[in-house]
Amino acid sequence: MKSVGIIGGGVSGLFSAYYLAKENVEVTILEEGNFEDGCSFGNAGMIVPSHIIPLAQPGMIAKGLRWMLRSDSPFYVKPRLSGSLVKWGYLFWKHSTEQHVRYSIPVLRDISLLSKRLFQELAMEHEVAFGWKEKGLLMLFKDAHALPEMKEEAHLAQQAGLEAQLLSGNEVQALEPNVRVDVAGGLYYPGDAHIYPNQLVRNLLAVLKAKGVRILENVAVQDFDIQNKKVQAVDTSNGRYCFDEVVVAAGAWSADLTQKLGISLPLQGGKGYSFMAKPESQSIQIPSILLEARATATPMGGGLRFAGTLEIAGTDTSVNMNRVRGIHSSIQNYYPELSIPFPEKESVWRGLRPCSPDGLPYIGRVKHLSNLTLATGHGMMGVSLGPATGKLVSEIVSGKKRSMDIAPFNPDRF
Ligand SMILES: Cc1cc2nc3c(=O)[nH]c(=O)nc-3n(C[C@H](O)[C@H](O)[C@H](O)COP(=O)(O)OP(=O)(O)OC[C@H]3O[C@@H](n4cnc5c(N)ncnc54)[C@H](O)[C@@H]3O)c2cc1C
Repeated sequence: MKSVGIIGGGVSGLFSAYYLAKENVEVTILEEGNFEDGCSFGNAGMIVPSHIIPLAQPGMIAKGLRWMLRSDSPFYVKPRLSGSLVKWGYLFWKHSTEQHVRYSIPVLRDISLLSKRLFQELAMEHEVAFGWKEKGLLMLFKDAHALPEMKEEAHLAQQAGLEAQLLSGNEVQALEPNVRVDVAGGLYYPGDAHIYPNQLVRNLLAVLKAKGVRILENVAVQDFDIQNKKVQAVDTSNGRYCFDEVVVAAGAWSADLTQKLGISLPLQGGKGYSFMAKPESQSIQIPSILLEARATATPMGGGLRFAGTLEIAGTDTSVNMNRVRGIHSSIQNYYPELSIPFPEKESVWRGLRPCSPDGLPYIGRVKHLSNLTLATGHGMMGVSLGPATGKLVSEIVSGKKRSMDIAPFNPDRF
């Protein structure tokens, strides 16, 4: 029986294990932490086929430069003397074009819709509980100046075959009867969904254990033995392991790991924060993006999760409470009657989104190693794309027909 070692136990690694376990293979997950430290745990849980426009888009660099001057801004690049950051920044700039946006739209739509279908299948099977809800997503804007941008976004989504409805402030309020919403309008994507990511990670892990997947917790991969264009062995804090196939799904840390494999993978950690609140009365029902604040509000686990910020910060995981203050202060702007206490530092979650410079994930084999597959670089959409990523990885490893064309995700594309 073929053996597969998966490095990293976030959604990319767990879903790879889930679909590989359905094939005739022996699966091991090697996870440095306890499965609750990665980016897959405390995120906003939005399943977003609507996110068809990559972060690398015209105007993003200018916005980023303006925001860099504010300590509570939603987007920030931590200035560092780093060759990998310079290369990443150059590639991001190179892809911030209309042409790249046009190229990416059908690619992101197709992988997102594949993933949503797989989430729906999982929810119907009732094997893994993860709080699946198909209530859509609202992009709320306070400033009417956002209207042309929102109209254009709705138009692009409709052209791509997705449902998108531009709503007035009153129409938004009618969709959210239990909380006062003070906005100029909203763009509603009825086809989006949301989950409770903490529950997904815990329950998927339990199902994998029951299926006989070997789970190695607190085991850090440190190096590799490469011979004859193959990864012959994986060296860890717990000794050496040998597998027929290796999958790197180590999130924002994947670039450090793949460097040891002779691969220069442009990847930066995009740090974000979240915190939970349990308001006594008012409540939000539809996951929402607070456009100007670049923050989010998602109902989950009987409460609300607020999240936001994107700090391009390598693998620095420190918590900057000024950025959390930025998220917190936006809440009352959009929901004036919602009283949410400012969170204690200890209760703030932070995660590093594994960001590729062109906004497309890395899913596939690399040229110079015949038994290595990468599954990372999903940036702001890793949870949404988790099932599709896992399915594609299982098809690559077992040599089956792919559910979609994976050429745009080629890890060797830069
Ligand atoms: C604030 C915030 C909100 C977000 N909201 C959403 C959202 O609403 N919808 C959405 O789709 N996405 C969202 N995301 C993005 C999403 O969370 C990520 O894209 C996704 O979790 C990445 O999953 P992953 O498995 O690739 O990486 P991770 O979850 O980071 O997992 C990688 C794992 O690899 C392990 N690892 C690293 N190095 C080693 C090593 N050497 N040896 C062994 N193990 C190792 C780590 O410990 C980690 O557990 C959000 C992110 C943030 C920060």
